[in-house]
Amino acid sequence: MDNKLFEILACPCCKGALKFERDSKELICRPCGLAYPIRDDIPVMLENEARTLSAEERVD
Ligand SMILES: [Zn+2]
Repeated sequence: MDNKLFEILACPCCKGALKFERDSKELICRPCGLAYPIRDDIPVMLENEARTLSAEERVD
């Protein structure tokens, strides 16, 4: 997987930087509390596909 690709991705919601979560293979936006899935190495940058982060996950 190309990590450089993820560095240029921004949250479609707030345009903020996303954090790549290696364990869950998700792209996290803390301000929005959303986790965007990566399917077949392709980030799914759709709000309605994103998972809502739990309260624990929102804390760094
Ligand atoms: Zn966001």
